[in-house]
Amino acid sequence: MKSDIRVCSAWRDAHDRPVYTLSTDCPECGADAVNSAPAPFDPEDSYGEYRRALKRRNR
Ligand SMILES: [Zn+2]
Repeated sequence: MKSDIRVCSAWRDAHDRPVYTLSTDCPECGADAVNSAPAPFDPEDSYGEYRRALKRRNR
């Protein structure tokens, strides 16, 4: 059975990390939730650290 996990399309703006849901919109901010399959990010990879490092540097 195919899972249909979606991710908040606005999580980069609205949240610190991807918000996953089975619904069609984000339970936290109400933005559209999009299929997470083609997502350009992995919640477990180093992107989060990278973004945090960038933020720190751009201060
Ligand atoms: Zn959201």
